[in-house]
Amino acid sequence: MISSVLPTYNRAPLTFVKGEGTWLIEEDGRRFLDLGAGIAVNVLGHAHPALTQALTDQANALWHTSNLYNIPQQQTLADKLVAATFADTVFFTNSGTEACELAVKMARKYWFEKGQPDKTDIITFSGSFHGRSSAGIAAAGSEKMTKGFGPLLPGFTHLEFGDHDALDPAITDKTAAILIEPVQGEGGIIPVPDQCLKGLRDVCDEKGILLILDEVQCGVGRTGKLFAHEWAGITPDIMMVAKGIGGGFPLGAVLATEEAASGMTAGTHGSTYGGNPLGCSVGSAVMDIVSEPDFLADVNRKAGTLRQKLEGLVAAHPDVFESVRGSGLMLGIKCKVPCGDVVNAGYANDVITVPAADNTVRLLPPLSISDEEIGEAVARLDNAAASLAA
Ligand SMILES: *Cc1c(COP(=O)(O)O)cnc(C)c1O
Repeated sequence: MISSVLPTYNRAPLTFVKGEGTWLIEEDGRRFLDLGAGIAVNVLGHAHPALTQALTDQANALWHTSNLYNIPQQQTLADKLVAATFADTVFFTNSGTEACELAVKMARKYWFEKGQPDKTDIITFSGSFHGRSSAGIAAAGSEKMTKGFGPLLPGFTHLEFGDHDALDPAITDKTAAILIEPVQGEGGIIPVPDQCLKGLRDVCDEKGILLILDEVQCGVGRTGKLFAHEWAGITPDIMMVAKGIGGGFPLGAVLATEEAASGMTAGTHGSTYGGNPLGCSVGSAVMDIVSEPDFLADVNRKAGTLRQKLEGLVAAHPDVFESVRGSGLMLGIKCKVPCGDVVNAGYANDVITVPAADNTVRLLPPLSISDEEIGEAVARLDNAAASLAA
């Protein structure tokens, strides 16, 4: 008999009942070090006092009205995001895949309003992940995500990730935009080299097409900059954000330049919950902390420490691990044994990691992780690896 919860997930047999900073406490009292952060969501760990305060203050005042009316908390967060980034304007969603929907609609509407309605095609890359909505799966294009789901949303051209020669011939007079994650997350923590992001920006400028970045996983301080594209010294025209921006409350956003957003006038898009007072209050509290230069400097310092320790871990277990890659506190360990075995061995040693494609284990700890916790986490991973080698 089917379970009362639709069985679309392969769940680990763990039930967490409480979170404290970098720690998750299971129902039997076991304390796990959380290097997954709900897949890069809990950027400030669990039950951060500033976020709990922002949420409960707002919950006591007002939960929901509607985008029929002014939502001051939305205005405040949008102002913060605009002040801190390339963007001139922000639309709030509840998730990453809804941000993908709007990014695609916005790019197509832009060209429609420019009198070029045939420019609808969006170039994407193998190994990418843009969520599970119809646009999201069509954008990623992999058989794993699309098979059986009928006619896909048309207008996506899929290129091999890293195949530079494929790009030029793929751009036609139908091309509206290029969509890429600066660091592939689900694909196995694969950063796009700065030079390549610069190259994509140049191609977009040259051919007059839009650059859409999906920073749903790599954004919000994860790589040690507020947004990952800052490392390459470029800016997108449109950017998708979610996961970390709500610190655990469902919140997403599309950031855009005034030019790229110019087709999106009143009535062209909307959401019942998107930008609700609760989410935006928490998002503002997240931004206040994560956008501080000192906070980001500390993320970079800790990222250096974790990376160095992981290099040591890989060297100590050459039969289990192959290499470390990633950016900031978005790190992946490519494995020689099945990565699911490493994740399970981590569970047995009270440390949480997340599997990804390309046989990679993801480490996406809260950005607030302490030096002591980094040391303890790597010690637990060391025990996990030893149990696999034995
Ligand atoms: C998680 C993710 C999404 C989808 O976000 P949801 O909130 O699950 O819809 C899209 N893009 C990237 C890069 C992601 O990591």
